Amino acid sequence: GYQKVLEENRKLYNQVQDLKGNIRVYCRVRPFLPGQPNSVNSVGHLDDGSITILTPSKNGKDAKKSFTFNRVFSPSATQAEVFSDTQPLVRSVLDGYNVCIFAYGQTGSGKTHTMSGPKEITEEGMGVNYRALNDLFSISKQRKDSISYDIRVQMIEIYNEQVRDLLSTDGSIKKLEIRNNSSNGINVPEANLVPVSTTSDVIHLMNLGQRNRAVSATAMNDRSSRSHSCLTVHIQGKDLTSGTVLRGCMHLVDLAGSERVDKSEVVGDRLKEAVHINKSLSALGDVISSLAQKSQHVPYRNSKLTQLLQDSLGGQAKTLMFVHISPEPHATVETISTLKFAERVSSIELGAAKVNKDTSEVKELKEQIASLKEALARKD
Ligand code: ADP
Ligand code: MG
Repeated sequence: GYQKVLEENRKLYNQVQDLKGNIRVYCRVRPFLPGQPNSVNSVGHLDDGSITILTPSKNGKDAKKSFTFNRVFSPSATQAEVFSDTQPLVRSVLDGYNVCIFAYGQTGSGKTHTMSGPKEITEEGMGVNYRALNDLFSISKQRKDSISYDIRVQMIEIYNEQVRDLLSTDGSIKKLEIRNNSSNGINVPEANLVPVSTTSDVIHLMNLGQRNRAVSATAMNDRSSRSHSCLTVHIQGKDLTSGTVLRGCMHLVDLAGSERVDKSEVVGDRLKEAVHINKSLSALGDVISSLAQKSQHVPYRNSKLTQLLQDSLGGQAKTLMFVHISPEPHATVETISTLKFAERVSSIELGAAKVNKDTSEVKELKEQIASLKEALARKD
């Protein structure tokens, strides 16, 4: 039963992964918002795998900068289309893989739209979080005669390098500790861990999370743009014939806004937040790019965010980053910096660099062979 399903899935999954690598970057462009000016678009050309940003220069001619990603979603892409390219990754959790899915981008670029959806949730509008859990529910149902799955979720927030439970039911927002190397994969043991099996369970929890997040926001500040929120799905599957138990874990992360804050212009709380966000986003970038480069040392311990995700980044784990950009020309500077960050974390560039290294190695080997042949010929 289990072993066979597992094997088949692994095989299929590895085929996809071999083609794409363990770290993938998808870019999504937000549409213009209703009622806002839309006559000038900073996005020039766009296709399935590349995007060109126009950067106006003084002489009136547009300069262009192009970027390549595993996938580019146009402003007209639906939530269902975005999810369909994410589904194989989500399903691998049922086979015991750890998965991390991030939403990165400046405030207002569409991160929460991708991960959760609009405030008033509809079937069509549901983001990756809902669709992922629904998909896990329906597959676990399909396999119920051979495997028994247990699905539980946690939801936490990281704000100013402090971890808080968003599923707390008594209104308390105590600070939590992260523990790595826990045997059951649950590295924030004090955070509420809630069993889920239906869409309405999930909607209920998401609402609770939203309420707790709002409570901790200070007046006039939208806290959500300056903290990271993470929905973690813990899965345990038990093979009903052999008794084998398999664990998988998936983090779905809505990151803090990536915009640079002019530090000369902010003080107090704003400055503190900006410093923390900057630190954790660059720590994340450093971790992912060092994984992409297969470095010996991966600097997980530089932020709470990377510490939290440690067991799900690298090794056999699969990572997907959605980078979001806004189409408005006034966002261009942030857009370029977002796409440069994304390029840095994606293995695409490094993949190309590797090819170069291989060719020079091959060239060197060929030269060695030639000189050895020459030496042999002289001996004769
Ligand atoms: P962020 O979380 O990055 O700050 P939001 O997800 O809140 O950004 O998006 C900002 C606004 O744009 C919201 O009103 C949201 O509904 C809208 N929006 C974002 N992405 C899309 C999209 N793909 N289609 C339609 N509206 C979107
Ligand atoms: Mg948001």
